[in-house]
Amino acid sequence: MNFKLVVASGNSSKLTEIRQMVPQSFEIVSMKELGFTDDIPETADTFAGNALIKARYISNKFAVNCLADDSGLEVEALGGRPGVFSARFAGPGSSDQQNINRLMAEMEGVTNRKARFVAVLALVLDGNEYLFEGFVNGTIAPKQTGNSGFGYDPVFIPEGYSATFGILSSEIKNSLSHRRMALDKMVAFLNQRLLQ
Ligand code: IMP
Repeated sequence: MNFKLVVASGNSSKLTEIRQMVPQSFEIVSMKELGFTDDIPETADTFAGNALIKARYISNKFAVNCLADDSGLEVEALGGRPGVFSARFAGPGSSDQQNINRLMAEMEGVTNRKARFVAVLALVLDGNEYLFEGFVNGTIAPKQTGNSGFGYDPVFIPEGYSATFGILSSEIKNSLSHRRMALDKMVAFLNQRLLQ
């Protein structure tokens, strides 16, 4: 039997990655497929807070089980910025390229290049709320390379590799990403629940 889950995200790259990573028994439905294309304001100052806002909103509006992903890049030398502001680092409505340009400008001449991606998944299931967190450590590359993935992928080199997520295959990214770690925790939780 398929397990149907609506994903509260308008980011098609996130949706693609989630679809590639969950077991085949999951049916991932986008908000767009429900006819919803509005922006849900992300007013919290934590990943968990924003993920819960999105998952609760769609779950209440459509009476469905819902998953939301709030994620971002934390750079050590920038005190954890851009963090929850990753999508709008260069200002409201900014493009991935504008955000990368702002990041690379701030990182010019900075020797500590340590960074990590963080993903927090909020699951609203039968009215109950659950959170799952994932991380991937790495460094900010000296320059932008490749165009795989989305967001800051062309400037992020995961630990253990010498190329950015922009160069590495989606199979490699999906085997070690922050989103993968969080999704694995959610799938393990759901499998456990189904066994009870
Ligand atoms: P959100 O939609 O508010 O969660 O914004 C997430 C933002 O964080 C994205 O727009 C990207 O800038 C960044 N981000 C999150 N996950 C990734 C990833 O896997 N690769 C590259 N950038 C990411």
